[in-house]
Amino acid sequence: MIDIEEFRTEVQAFFSARYDLRDPEVDDEREDIIARAPDGHQTMVDLARDLQRQLAAAGLSGVHIPVEYGGRGLGHDHAKLIEHEHRRYDAPSLRPLGIGMHLAVATLLASGSEQQKRRYLPALISADEQWCQLFSEPDAGSDLVSLRTRAVLDGDEWVIDGQKVWSSYAANAHFGLLLARTDPDAPKPHVGITMFVLPMDAPGVTVRPLVDIAGGLHFNEVFLEGVRLDGDSVIGDVNQGWGVSQGTLGGERSGYMGGSGDGRRLRQVITAARTAGVIDDSVMRDRMMRIVTAERVLEWVRDRYLAGVLAGGNPAAGSMMKLAGGSLEQQCSELIADIAGAAGQAWDSTDRDGDIVSHDLNATRQSRIAGGTHQIQRNLLGERVLGLPREPK
Ligand SMILES: Cc1cc2nc3c(=O)[nH]c(=O)nc-3n(C[C@H](O)[C@H](O)[C@H](O)COP(=O)(O)OP(=O)(O)OC[C@H]3O[C@@H](n4cnc5c(N)ncnc54)[C@H](O)[C@@H]3O)c2cc1C
Repeated sequence: MIDIEEFRTEVQAFFSARYDLRDPEVDDEREDIIARAPDGHQTMVDLARDLQRQLAAAGLSGVHIPVEYGGRGLGHDHAKLIEHEHRRYDAPSLRPLGIGMHLAVATLLASGSEQQKRRYLPALISADEQWCQLFSEPDAGSDLVSLRTRAVLDGDEWVIDGQKVWSSYAANAHFGLLLARTDPDAPKPHVGITMFVLPMDAPGVTVRPLVDIAGGLHFNEVFLEGVRLDGDSVIGDVNQGWGVSQGTLGGERSGYMGGSGDGRRLRQVITAARTAGVIDDSVMRDRMMRIVTAERVLEWVRDRYLAGVLAGGNPAAGSMMKLAGGSLEQQCSELIADIAGAAGQAWDSTDRDGDIVSHDLNATRQSRIAGGTHQIQRNLLGERVLGLPREPK
């Protein structure tokens, strides 16, 4: 395996040939500006796919994935180093591809068949195919086990009917990780659920975009009417999809949603404090230092968690990162709103700074809900990590 310092040189050569280094104390608002443009959502997706294609061509995408599936068979330390170097440069965000690269890759590696791994992983790595997650339903969010989307066997094919909601990037995705009920008579509700690979262009799939509280366009509703899938679409075993999904959700909470301590929120806070002339205010400095400390601790805890899981530790501890990452996001946006004062509470359409403050206050609420709400994470930590008595039904 390539030595980590030699690898760092390779990764730095990739980024430095394309992007400038970020100023660690100045927030680059370009991403916010792109995201708010009328076609901003699509632009963010296109920029992410373009960067990942280049990373893949240089052998720097999905490096922890085994060589036979298109990766380089390197360690998680190597993958983390790329994330770390990526954040140091003024490069586009890869977030629109996160469901594929974190959730779908983890699910396929853990539970996919050999044929599925060979078919799907190379196109995920190269960004030729994008994925979405089709778990939540109108009446099954926290209580995911009540999901009602049905898959009924008709000869060799499964026929799927139902509705999903809050499906991020579904309008851009080629495939979805779909949970459906395959045995409605199973004695326990979590038995009798199966995970499928759903081609988003299959006849009977309708995707309808939703606008979120902050004006974002990544959410969708997905309607499934008589969609036919063959047996090869099942991930893991029929009726055992609940277990498969727990691996997907662990990856979501620790990696995709778990906050990475990328310093972006802190840069926003520092920029806001400089602009408002309160950078030397001792109370504000104290609050900023708490954020710096929390970001650093989160990064260390995440490292320890990933090392623990690789060594066979309890994946439910991923809830800790989700809880800490979501709280930190919100803490930052609230501090920025406090710094902005009245200017962040009322704004007109030409006041970009006021708009950004209010937008962030709304947008960061989502991080307390996505991937399972904070109340649910606390329940999971209590029951599955601390061994407390189960929540009364
Ligand atoms: C930004 C974002 C992106 C998302 N992307 C996706 C996606 O790509 N794919 C997907 O499938 N889903 C996605 N979701 C949906 C997300 O998983 C659900 O919103 C979440 O699980 C909560 O479910 P719900 O919205 O139905 O809320 P509900 O389950 O109705 O919860 C309502 C409230 O009740 C509380 N509550 C419920 N049960 C309990 C309990 N047992 N104990 C204590 N409190 C409880 C909750 O904490 C919450 O405050 C996304 C959500 C967001 C915000």
